[in-house]
Amino acid sequence: MSEVIVSNPTPLMAKSPYDLRVNLGTGVPETDVRSALATGDMGFLHSFTTGSTLDGPGVRIVGWTTGCHWRCLYCHNPDTWTMSNGIPVTLTRAVEELRKYRHGLKVMSGGFTLSGGEPLMQDRFAAKLLAAVHEMGIHTALDTNGSLGNRLSDAELESIDLVLLDIKAWDPDRHRHLTGMDVGAVLEFARRLADRNRPIWVRYVLVPGLTDDSHEIAQIAKFAASLGTVKRVDVLPFHQMGRYKWKELNLDYKLEAVEPPDNETVERTCEIFRAAGLTAH
Ligand code: SF4
Repeated sequence: MSEVIVSNPTPLMAKSPYDLRVNLGTGVPETDVRSALATGDMGFLHSFTTGSTLDGPGVRIVGWTTGCHWRCLYCHNPDTWTMSNGIPVTLTRAVEELRKYRHGLKVMSGGFTLSGGEPLMQDRFAAKLLAAVHEMGIHTALDTNGSLGNRLSDAELESIDLVLLDIKAWDPDRHRHLTGMDVGAVLEFARRLADRNRPIWVRYVLVPGLTDDSHEIAQIAKFAASLGTVKRVDVLPFHQMGRYKWKELNLDYKLEAVEPPDNETVERTCEIFRAAGLTAH
């Protein structure tokens, strides 16, 4: 493994995932990147952040991976799209970093959430890291767009206590417009999780004028309720905290003029999910 990986001095802990981080892994030789992706012995991380109460039950540490093949119009962390923007981190370093927090996380009924980016772009690293953390007795969650769920074996799913599954739209055209990708694999992964009785929290980002159509939301609610293992739905109001990253990265941000939804719209959206028999916040 190269010197760049072993001696990378960038702190893994960040104050927030909204810190802009770029080009931290560009010195890693291509052969190391390929071997890392194949074995999972190394990954690329934007950062770890502590103290989240939004990414699963209790107080959590969140690992933000880099690499995502989607291009959501509202993405608030576009610096995580490129894998080489992340810090190259050995699996051992990531596990040891998390080991320091294991007692505190248990006391706070919290755990570890792997998010991104799309964590399953580095599926071997994600599977090995979640298994190692699970082995320590820490609650594990995977926050994913679901499109690469078929990269995880049934056995690997068992070491993930909760899947935070982003369902971004129901209508295929709307989904493609919003993310650049098809929704089919997401729904397939949701059904597989349900078949294996794995707990799911559905996450739905509410963007005025884009994802606030009641009929569309009702379709997602009906599907989520039919799964039987969706424990909760988080309605996430769109915000503009990632706007500056689009500008810094010279990306074409199309939601410049969009305002966050008001409380009434958020509550109305939650009610649609509740009407389908789900718990929604
Ligand atoms: S799936 Fe997540 S990380 Fe990827 S573009 Fe969409 S919001 Fe951003």
